[in-house]
Amino acid sequence: MSFSELGLIPELLKAVAEAGYTEPTPIQRQAIPVVLAGHDMMGGAQTGTGKTAGFTLPLLNRLARHASTSTSPARHQVRALILAPTRELAMQVFESVKMYSRHLPLRSTCIYGGVDMNPQIQELRRGIEIVVATPGRLLDHVQQKTIALGQVEFLVLDEADRMLDMGFIPDIRRILALLPANRQSLLFSATFSDEIKKLADQMLKNPQLIEVARRNMVSETISHIVHPVSSGLKRNLLAHLIRHEEENAQVLVFVGTKFGCSRLAHFLERHGISADSIHGDKSQQARTETLEAFKSGKIRVLVATDVAARGLDIEDLPSVINFELPHTAEDYVHRIGRTGRAGKSGKAVSLVSAEERHHLADIQKLIKLEIRQEIVPGFDPEPDFFDAEGSRRKRSPTAAPATPRNAPTASATKEPASSTGDRKKRPERERGEQRPERERAPHRGRQPNHIAADGFDFSKPYEQPSAIPKTEDASADSLHKPQRPIAFLLGGLGRKH
Ligand code: AMP
Repeated sequence: MSFSELGLIPELLKAVAEAGYTEPTPIQRQAIPVVLAGHDMMGGAQTGTGKTAGFTLPLLNRLARHASTSTSPARHQVRALILAPTRELAMQVFESVKMYSRHLPLRSTCIYGGVDMNPQIQELRRGIEIVVATPGRLLDHVQQKTIALGQVEFLVLDEADRMLDMGFIPDIRRILALLPANRQSLLFSATFSDEIKKLADQMLKNPQLIEVARRNMVSETISHIVHPVSSGLKRNLLAHLIRHEEENAQVLVFVGTKFGCSRLAHFLERHGISADSIHGDKSQQARTETLEAFKSGKIRVLVATDVAARGLDIEDLPSVINFELPHTAEDYVHRIGRTGRAGKSGKAVSLVSAEERHHLADIQKLIKLEIRQEIVPGFDPEPDFFDAEGSRRKRSPTAAPATPRNAPTASATKEPASSTGDRKKRPERERGEQRPERERAPHRGRQPNHIAADGFDFSKPYEQPSAIPKTEDASADSLHKPQRPIAFLLGGLGRKH
């Protein structure tokens, strides 16, 4: 199927062709006709499936009647509001809106917290049709009367489950109360808890449910490995592994805390490995610069917290290293979804100390795989690492394929396991200083009910496609992205070791 068969106007087809897309992804095939027909929609899809174009293209198609080259602000009212939980996600959605609307005289902007409001106010004054916003900052503008929402025809709530986890739902409800009742609304979420369903009931009218299989289905492209290691030796093991990676290969390293994040990046720098960190205490500008430096290959290792890394569109990474395991198993799936994309092979390496074993057990249960464990000689775990497992794994001198090249390891004999994608993410709260970033899940007490209104079971995101009825494979393999240069191909700006 081609984009033109979906009934999009020529201006959009041109933009899609310029983006390098040859055919719609599964979510686009399903969502575009539904949105073009004017229906409300509840979408079970995540970042990486092409969902942004799935809602942006038909939304622009429907907004095209408002397209105007007039300079008068009165001719450019806010017609579409797209809400995203984090600045990063909002920026990414905005980039997509800009790209797809490039041949239409429709104006768009992105407003988020943590930065000066004045430039945003100037933009809004000029007149804007499409506003991509984080909820907190949007409400700040509402309060200051610098945005008028009375003409909004489209509302998109992206990553509703993350909004919930961040405590944004009251803000969303406040925003809903400000919008005209007669509007088209779309809600995207990776999971559908009772609270999300309550919100959907309030926000959507006779919604059509569309859903695509998660990227986090078991994939053969990612090899997972655990290196049991005592916590005191982790930093040195990390430097050791990175040094034995292919020359200048970039690595995304995940840590548990903001403090640990900066410290680890400094440690690597001191050991001759170009590294920087990204976490919620850094200013938006610093985060954007660091991310750009990583994407362009100026830095080789990016150390990130889960919160700061959410929504980052980092492509084609050969490996992700969990310096610490995440406290929630879903975050593991989210983290490793940064590698092994588009059918490429990827490595998910985890450095696990004795006190993290229970997190490892949770992860293995969730992804339904037992991850191979290998001790790297010289980097032993705490003596009690294997105690609770009952069967102590044996060390053997074999190096395994999943370990960095040249890195000597002692291997326990477990089959490589694989899984890719992401499911549930807990983003940082934004609004700058007023609402500091949370590094941990605010609460995990609620019991999600995974059955959607029409009976769809969202609790099985890691099943094989055949086990999920009514779904299509939306794995990264099915996306034909335009190639982005990877850093080390650009001349290897990272230092050699
Ligand atoms: P999203 O899930 O919206 O974050 O999109 C994930 C990535 O897929 C983005 O980098 C898009 O540029 C890309 N993408 C979206 N639609 C297509 C398509 N039809 N063909 C190839 N790539 C796409």
